Order: sequence, then structure tokens, then C-alpha cells
Amino acid sequence: MKKILLTGCAGFIGSNFIPYILDKYNNYHIINLDLLTYAGNLENLKEIEGKEFEYTFIKGNICDRELVESIFNQYDIRGVIHFAAESHVDNSIKMPEIFIETNVKGTFTLIDVAYKYWMMRPFQYKIEYEGCRFHHISTDEVYGSLGETGLFSETTPYAPNSPYSASKASSDMIVRSYHHTYGLNTVITNCSNNYGPKQHDEKLIPTIIRKALANESIPIYGDGKNIRDWLYVLDHCKGIDLVFHNGKQGETYNIGGKNEKTNFEIVNIICEILDKKVPQKKSYKELITFVEDRAGHDMRYAIDASKIEDQLDWKANENFDSGIIKTIDWYLNKYGVKE
Ligand code: NAD
Repeated sequence: MKKILLTGCAGFIGSNFIPYILDKYNNYHIINLDLLTYAGNLENLKEIEGKEFEYTFIKGNICDRELVESIFNQYDIRGVIHFAAESHVDNSIKMPEIFIETNVKGTFTLIDVAYKYWMMRPFQYKIEYEGCRFHHISTDEVYGSLGETGLFSETTPYAPNSPYSASKASSDMIVRSYHHTYGLNTVITNCSNNYGPKQHDEKLIPTIIRKALANESIPIYGDGKNIRDWLYVLDHCKGIDLVFHNGKQGETYNIGGKNEKTNFEIVNIICEILDKKVPQKKSYKELITFVEDRAGHDMRYAIDASKIEDQLDWKANENFDSGIIKTIDWYLNKYGVKE
């Protein structure tokens, strides 16, 4: 059994990734290190309980060097996929420090421990750890904001605008430096906005669904014209799997859905589906309320995913029409709402 350390997998994307990878491969023992902050919830991993998977959960902080070293030693870790982060832009505006702590120092701690555990010196792996890989999960937000045209490619210069994206950009740079300076086998994936089951209530799509069902006003920032490129979470998981196993070391890969939508379009689509599934006297659209814009709100993100499509044969299985129905159904079930 190859033991790999996954971080932050009680959160949204990691808790979709763990069942995916455990179902697909039978040669991994997964160690999930998660601090269970407000964003982590072990309920998200209930579906793997009772199954005969090789899986260990450890509650702890990725910034705790002693703990991370003890995990490498105890489990003889042979790979890392690093999801753990503070991930909500609004929180980063209110309390940036924890973003620097977790996203920058946490990534540094993990990669430095991995380097020292797997390698003897720069560019020389210990024989038994040859090929051990550090995969860093990152975001398209590191590239800043686009105008009306253009797409982010892997060579787009970094221009992060929020404390969140600045902390993720910093962590990407640390990972890059461990490849260039020490020859560590690293890969980075920069993905667009994910949606799907298990996302925290604070994020846009869960907020729209929750507020609508509670018959409360649905807050949309500014004029609702900000554009994001939405990807169903399992398509992101598929991309991570391909890059972790087949990606070229030292490279970064953008993952995105070719699925640009304004926030106003998103809220309208969700309201229309809810109007059919859980009809009320008035349309849910009447609850849409424009609120003061997020400070420094990026206008448009959109990904050029041709590198991962061409080199690793990745393509999204889900389109937005099918993915959003699955997502809404999952939240209706979570909130106990009958159709
Ligand atoms: P999330 O906020 O849902 O989950 C984060 C998880 O990390 C939680 O389980 C939390 O408990 C854990 N965590 C936080 N601080 C920790 C610490 N110090 N030590 C250990 N665990 C800690 O986030 P998510 O949406 O699942 O995002 C996962 C990764 O993907 C992040 O690195 C994020 O930047 C990146 N990403 C997210 C999106 C998106 O749309 N959600 C898009 C692109 C990239």
C-alpha cells in the first residue's frame, strides 16, 4: 500500500476527491490531515465510513511542523496532495492574517518536511523515495482579473488582487522554488470556481439555494455582472488525478470548465430550477437583492484548459445544466426539502 498524505479533505473539494480516489485505486492508504476549522466537516466523508478502504483521519494543523514530521515518519509518506487552505475571499478581506499563516506558512511547512524526508540534498532523492511527488492545489485567482476578452493560460503573469489570492500565489511560488532549487518533484493545478455537493454554506451557490429556500433576500454583489468560469467539482477531481499521476514534474496545469457565467445568470438559473422543483406563490427571483460590492472585486476569470486537455486528455464530463441540477438536488436533500 502506498501511503499518501492529503490535507484539508474534510472541506469541499477534498471530501469529493477522497471517495473518488479510493473508489478508483486500490493501492493507496490515504492519510487525511485536517484541522477541522469552521470549513471542515467530517460529515462530508460519511460515505466512506464502514467501507474497506485504507484511510486514516488526523486532526491537526499543517503549520505544526512537529506533527507533520511525525506523520511522515509514522506512515512513511510517499506523496502529498495539498488541498488545505483558508479559501473564502470575503474572510480574507476581514482577517487576512490567518490566510498568510495557513496558505503560506502551512504550504512551506509541508513542502519543506517532504523535501527533507524524501531527498538527501538538492536534486538527489533517497533511492526509496525516487518519484515521490508534491501536488499543490491552487486557484485561477492568482492571475488577477480579465477584461471582456482573453483567457488565463499557464504563462499568464501572476497578479493576485485579494489577500486570499495573494496568499495562494505566494504558496505557488514556494512550490515552484522547491522544484527549481532542490529538484523536488512538484506539480501545481490552478482551477477555476468549483461547484457541487458539500460546498460550505458561505459560498455563492449554496448561499443562493439556502436563502431562496428560507424565503430570505438573496444577496448578489454589485451589479451581478462579475464573471466566473464554473467547473463541477468531480471534473476538478478528475483533473487532479490525471496531473498527480501523469503530469510532468515542475509544471503547472490550469483546469477550467469553459463555462463562463455572470453571478446574475447563476442566480437566475438556480431560481428557475427551484421554481420548478419547489414552487412557491412568487418566483424565487423576487428575492434577488443587489448589495454593496465586495472590496476589490475581480471582474472576470476564465481558464484556457488546453494544456491539460491536450497533454493529459482531460475533459469535463459535466456541463453546467446537468451539474447544477445535481448540486441543487444535493442541497434539497441536505436541507430536508421535498420536491
Ligand atoms: P474549503 O474551505 O471547503 O476546505 C478547506 C479545508 O482545509 C477544511 O476542511 C479546513 O478544515 C482545512 N484547513 C484549513 N486550515 C487548515 C490548517 N491550518 N491545517 C489543516 N487543515 C486546514 O476549501 P475548498 O473549496 O475545498 O478548497 C480546497 C483547495 O482548493 C484550496 O487550496 C483552494 O484554494 C483550492 N481551490 C478552491 C476552489 C473552489 O472553487 N472552491 C477553486 C480553485 C482552487
